[in-house]
Amino acid sequence: MEAERLAAGPLGPRLHCAGLFYAAASCFFDDRRYAWRLRNGCPCPMSTNLLGLDLDALADFCDRLGEKRFRATQLFRWIHQRGAGDFAAMTDLAKSLREKLAGVAQIRALPVVSTQRSADGTIKWLFDVGDGNLIESVFIPETDRGTLCVSSQAGCAVGCRFCSTGHQGFSRNLHTAEILAQLWYAEHTLRRELGRQDRVITNVVMMGMGEPLQNYDQLLPALRVMLDDHGYGLSRRRVTVSTSGVVPMMERLSHDLPVALAVSLHAPNDALRDHLVPLNRKYPIDELLAASAAYQVHAPRDFITFEYCMLEGVNDQIEQAQELVALMRRHAAGGLSAKLNLIPFNPFTASGLRRSSAAQVQAFANVLLDAGMVTTVRKTRGDDIDAACGQLAGDVKDRTDVQHRRARQGLLAGVPVVQVASSPAR
Ligand code: SAH
Ligand code: SF4
Repeated sequence: MEAERLAAGPLGPRLHCAGLFYAAASCFFDDRRYAWRLRNGCPCPMSTNLLGLDLDALADFCDRLGEKRFRATQLFRWIHQRGAGDFAAMTDLAKSLREKLAGVAQIRALPVVSTQRSADGTIKWLFDVGDGNLIESVFIPETDRGTLCVSSQAGCAVGCRFCSTGHQGFSRNLHTAEILAQLWYAEHTLRRELGRQDRVITNVVMMGMGEPLQNYDQLLPALRVMLDDHGYGLSRRRVTVSTSGVVPMMERLSHDLPVALAVSLHAPNDALRDHLVPLNRKYPIDELLAASAAYQVHAPRDFITFEYCMLEGVNDQIEQAQELVALMRRHAAGGLSAKLNLIPFNPFTASGLRRSSAAQVQAFANVLLDAGMVTTVRKTRGDDIDAACGQLAGDVKDRTDVQHRRARQGLLAGVPVVQVASSPAR
């Protein structure tokens, strides 16, 4: 499969005339960017990465090449359904078209820095998105589904107290191509490893690094490709956007593409949430829950999921569970139907926080259950590789010290694949 080959190693030179000139110029002006382009297989910024185009955008692209829409559909299927990374492999496209495409476009994967496999089958990939920025994707296999946790930003500006990504600060938004490259690589690598022709990833959760609704313009085309029948063909129920509460963008998403929604709540009142999720100062709880109720009208599921990360002595007390019940009841009257998902905190040193005990989580859950609220406790997965969503790339990333970061980037380039346990991903 092309996905593995492209992501794992250098592509070899693919120089185009205009690209050569530009590359030389950009090399002169910015050797760091040029080095990144080279590592990514092409120094030519004129060459479009087709991983970043939804079907309409690809049709426009083909139109500009004088090709009909059905050619775009063929190309799209080759890329996303068959994992092709090389136009030469697309044998039902005319040779002249393949050559034309090779001159102006590419299917550019992200370099893989490491692959870690948990004893429970969870797999975590660390990708290099340039300039010392690393992002992670996590595959979580279960008997009846395979979920991929996808990153939307390098770092995150929201800065939640309990989140390793938040502690790293914000570097930049990912491009559509970089969001989709995670799915493209994971899906086709896993198919190849497992010898499967059918879909391996059945669910996508935007719960990796970053706040997806603060990168809306790049997120939306990526979601379209996930849902497209000629792309990954996932239903709206099986694609979840998780947000810390970017209220205006929740409304936009409900009109543009209402996929399943998870809201990261973590506190039953504004005073505590202001502290844990600083974005709450801009969009306080009542506004957030009203926006959630409005979203629900368009949502593919009967409920909105509320994530609640259980922090010992901070938000896990019985009175706080009771306060949460009262809050949710008040908003139920406004049409909100909520499912509470209690997440065991994944500790990291800089947070100074601790995971609530299992007994405390259960006691908290019991209050919610006794009040008739749909409540689940998330199973921890991939603990041995720090793979839980929300705890991503922090160990190897430091956005505060640029020199250190660049030095690290050099070091990371040589990091081998880490095999924590050899169990296959099922
Ligand atoms: N920015 C979005 C999506 C990425 S975070 C959001 O906040 O919803 C995905 C989920 O992981 C969120 O529910 C987040 O609160 C949770 N999370 C972050 N850090 C965590 C940690 N250390 N332990 C457990 N869950 C965490
Ligand atoms: Fe950003 Fe989500 Fe982490 Fe908060 S929990 S810092 S919003 S990634």
